[in-house]
Amino acid sequence: MSGFWNKRARGLEPYVPGEQPRERRLIKLNTNENPYPPSPKALAAIREAAAADLRLYPDPLCTVLREAVAETYRVKPEQVFPGNGSDEVLAFAFAAFFPSAGEGGVRPVLFPDITYSFYPVYAGLWDIPVRTVPLTGDFSVNAEDYLYPAGGVIFPNPNAPTGRALPLRDILSVAGYQGKAGRVVIVDEAYGAFGGESAVPHIGEFPNLLTVHTLSKAASLAGLRVGFAIGREELIQGLCRLRDSFNSYTLDRLALAGAAAAVSDGAYYHEINRKVIATRERVSGRLRELGFEVIPSAANFIFIRRPRLSGAEIFAALRERGILVRRFDTPRIRDYLRVSMGTDKDMDEFLEFMEAVSKRAPERSAGGAGDEGY
Ligand code: PMP
Repeated sequence: MSGFWNKRARGLEPYVPGEQPRERRLIKLNTNENPYPPSPKALAAIREAAAADLRLYPDPLCTVLREAVAETYRVKPEQVFPGNGSDEVLAFAFAAFFPSAGEGGVRPVLFPDITYSFYPVYAGLWDIPVRTVPLTGDFSVNAEDYLYPAGGVIFPNPNAPTGRALPLRDILSVAGYQGKAGRVVIVDEAYGAFGGESAVPHIGEFPNLLTVHTLSKAASLAGLRVGFAIGREELIQGLCRLRDSFNSYTLDRLALAGAAAAVSDGAYYHEINRKVIATRERVSGRLRELGFEVIPSAANFIFIRRPRLSGAEIFAALRERGILVRRFDTPRIRDYLRVSMGTDKDMDEFLEFMEAVSKRAPERSAGGAGDEGY
């Protein structure tokens, strides 16, 4: 704490991102990046944009990118809001749509107890009251728990870090219920390309439904920092109000060019993500054979635990072996590890190590670590 920090800065609880190691030799399975390179067309567009025009500000309307997204997702450019990573889009969406405590008498925003750990941070930043809703015993979202008067609702589909997808009909029932009360429902589709059904085709029916997307996972461009929201014009204009009160140029010229080319190169991405999905299924099957519990995943990562072994110990042993995964030291999920899908070669090394780990697990015990169920 510094005496120079005001009350707001003192009160923040910032998000802690997954480690980005400087050591290149590590097998990096901790931040859900894509193991395959970005589209060659996107790289060519970025190279081309790295030119004398960089002396000029970028297009504040992000026209090329909005048009590319509109064409790919079959919406209008006015229904697209790009940002500097979907984290930024989410931060603006919390600020624009969810009621803050200062408004008085507001109901809390609902999201799952186990979900993307940035949501409570945005809520803290904007002073938005929240209530977390426990996932069911098998880590599913029970949509009925969200048919409840609230300040709004947000969840990822598929959820993170569990990887479980929600049926589209559940999402639409929540959107319909909350819409009647004038509340916004945000569906974070960061991992949508790896499974699950997108809610985008339904934004026309639900004026309160906003979907959020990123190029960091499926488009293999985490380093470019681009995300976007899709929703009815009214919602998009709300986001623009926020952005234009903060920073009118959130996307630079390189990002705009690269992202527009990437969004338009569906054929390339379909191919690499088909491989990621095949790897996920193969790794999940093998881990189950080895006695791991693997939550069925529709994302580019899996959420696993080895009954009778502590998650912290497996995490540390993997780190020692040069394999980085993600672990959240929070209730219910302490013994789970989230493992991003790498190349098949990376995953073979991971599996080889997990085979050795699993041999160390006692067959049965009177309730060791992680034995108490969900
Ligand atoms: N939503 C979810 C559910 C995520 O897991 C992530 C990645 N940490 C993001 C949004 C943010 O992605 P980005 O800012 O890279 O677009």
